[in-house]
Amino acid sequence: MLRFLKKNYPDAKCHLVFKNAGELLVGSILSAQCTDKRVNMVTPGLFRKYPDLDAFSQASEEELQNDIRSTGFYKNKAKAIINCSRQIVQTHAGKVPCEMEDLVRLPGVGRKTANVIIGNYFRKPGIIVDTHIMRLSRRIGLTCNSDPVKIEFDLRECIPEKDWTFFSNSLGDHGRTICKARKPLCSECGISGICLYFKQLYVS
Ligand code: SF4
Repeated sequence: MLRFLKKNYPDAKCHLVFKNAGELLVGSILSAQCTDKRVNMVTPGLFRKYPDLDAFSQASEEELQNDIRSTGFYKNKAKAIINCSRQIVQTHAGKVPCEMEDLVRLPGVGRKTANVIIGNYFRKPGIIVDTHIMRLSRRIGLTCNSDPVKIEFDLRECIPEKDWTFFSNSLGDHGRTICKARKPLCSECGISGICLYFKQLYVS
C-alpha cells in the first residue's frame, strides 16, 4: 500500500494554506467539520486581520465568531482559538509547542490537530486521523475501531514511523479522489487487492 501511495501521490501534503505554525494551528481548529477548501477561503482575510497568536488572544469573541462563521461551529471554534492563543502566549512565549504532550494541553487541540502540526509543520512523524483516514483505514482493514485515538494507535502499529505523515496525507488524497465516502471507485483503485471492503463486496 505504501508503494502504491508513494507512486501515485508522491507530493502529498497538507491542503491547508499556512505560513507559520500559528496559522496552521488556527487553520486546523477551523477545519473541524469543514473542508480545507472552505477554510482556505476564510484564512487569508483572517490572518491579515489577526497577524499572529497574540492578536488572536486579544480578539473579541463575538467579532471572531463573525469572521469565521462560514466554517461552521463558529462559536466553539472562536472560543478555542482565543483560549488556545492565550495559553500559548502565556505559557509558551507565543510559540506553538512541538511536543504532543504540550499541544494536547491547549484548549481546542486534540490529537488530530496536534498531529497535523507535528507532521506538517515540525516535519516529525504524525498519524493524522481525519474523516478520510478513519473511513479508509476501516474499509481497507487496517483497523476495526471507530474511535480516532484507537485508530491512530492501530495505524502506528502497521505503518513505519518515518512514513506516518506521508501516509496520512497521501491516504487522505486517495480518499478524496478514489475511495470517496458515498461511492468508492473500487474498479479504479490500485489497492483493491489488499482491501477488505473490496474482498467482502466483490470476491466472496
Ligand atoms: S478497493 Fe474500494 S474500498 Fe478499497 S480502498 Fe479502493 S476504493 Fe476504497
